[in-house]
Amino acid sequence: MSRDSQQRFDVLVVGGGPAGMAAAVRAAECGVRVGLVDDNANCGGQIWRGASEVGQSQDAAIWSSLLRSANVTKLYGKRVFHPPEAGVLLAEGADDLCELRYASLVVATGARERFLPFPGWTLPNVMGAGGLQAMVKSGLPIRGKRVVVAGSGPLLLAVAAYLRKQGAEVPIVCEQASWTSLVRFGAALLGHPGKIAQGLQLKRDLAGVRFAANSWPLAAHGTPILESVTIFRSGTTEVMACDYLACGFHLVPNVELQSLLGCKISGGYVQVDECQETSVQGIFSAGEPTGIGGVELALVEGQIAGLAAGGRRAEARKLFGERRKAQRFARMLDRTFHLRPQLRDLSAPETIVCRCEDVPYSHLREHRSWRAAKLHTRCGMGPCQGRVCGPATQFLFQWTPDSVRPPVFPARVESLAGVEKSG
Ligand SMILES: Cc1cc2nc3c(=O)[nH]c(=O)nc-3n(C[C@H](O)[C@H](O)[C@H](O)COP(=O)(O)OP(=O)(O)OC[C@H]3O[C@@H](n4cnc5c(N)ncnc54)[C@H](O)[C@@H]3O)c2cc1C
Repeated sequence: MSRDSQQRFDVLVVGGGPAGMAAAVRAAECGVRVGLVDDNANCGGQIWRGASEVGQSQDAAIWSSLLRSANVTKLYGKRVFHPPEAGVLLAEGADDLCELRYASLVVATGARERFLPFPGWTLPNVMGAGGLQAMVKSGLPIRGKRVVVAGSGPLLLAVAAYLRKQGAEVPIVCEQASWTSLVRFGAALLGHPGKIAQGLQLKRDLAGVRFAANSWPLAAHGTPILESVTIFRSGTTEVMACDYLACGFHLVPNVELQSLLGCKISGGYVQVDECQETSVQGIFSAGEPTGIGGVELALVEGQIAGLAAGGRRAEARKLFGERRKAQRFARMLDRTFHLRPQLRDLSAPETIVCRCEDVPYSHLREHRSWRAAKLHTRCGMGPCQGRVCGPATQFLFQWTPDSVRPPVFPARVESLAGVEKSG
């Protein structure tokens, strides 16, 4: 397939979530040519997906409006899958292939949920918490459905509140973190008045919903689809009937594109300097790939990256104080929602860990590294390219992931033929 279009930007932003939107707006204010590419039909990312609905947050309204009026070329519905050479990215649309050239790049690719395997987790209607929320936002009817929400992280509460507003019955939210960690987290929130307001709102939205700390799913049951879930709750087990299990264990940063571009990754995050520039000159990263810290951190990092990429580093500096504060919150999240070791024992020998290639736990535990497991079992070699089983095996076996191989996302054969031509 030939490249259907070729565009050239001074600053190209990959990812149209809060970080990417803020980066694009601020870069455009510098008077340079800016492009914003995202694989969704619209901007907004995970949190502001479908933000046209009534009740969108003030921040969503402000940044959507700023982006609408900014001089930014919006390339929605296009997924970046390959950097064929320095300064060039290839992006695939529904039926086209674009070559995007840039002088500076801001990579704001967000995060995804972490899934841990347990018996029954591959049953239909066991879904990621954020994934179920996204499907409901896209039209999945949830009114009257009974949804158990379980796993770890503040996303669980946001999802439970959202599903309840859409008419779902949420009998319980199960959080694996201990009460001690959660109380410490609550006390530390006193330094973040905005977060306290959000917390109080969530408390109102979830009035009457049981919240269980020290609690996680042990097994999901049903034939052929989910009918109930066994929950571990402070030393006891309980079987609960449900239509859906919304389950995710905090978030994993999306760093694969940055890694392929040669940016240094440490502790799972992209390493950046004070202006959000990575170890590769001219390539910046912002939002969840540099630290899981919520929308405020994503917005301020995006602004700093956009200004610095647009050539206004002095202006970017004025935002460093705001970022420091948001980073403190990110560190608190990491500490509070650290996964407890008992979760390593959830899988039975026959529990599937790599669902693309149907690899059970018993086949994986024979191996000593991610690479050996890949070679012998094909774990991580299916369509998701280890995005789901990679973080799971990293937690289960403490394996270090391999270097990322192109393409970053599965692409059409014609698009890959386009890559060959440039090679
Ligand atoms: C599934 C999920 C649901 C969430 N729901 C909530 C919520 O309800 N409330 C809340 O407070 N927080 C939620 N969060 C957390 C929230 O995402 C963060 O707090 C913050 O908003 C992240 O902003 P970001 O810009 O860094 O990333 P994101 O908002 O994730 O934006 C990244 C964007 O980059 C796009 N992208 C990634 N790779 C490519 C590529 N190769 N080519 C093109 N586009 C690409 C993604 O599709 C996405 O639109 C959720 C997180 C996840 C993972």
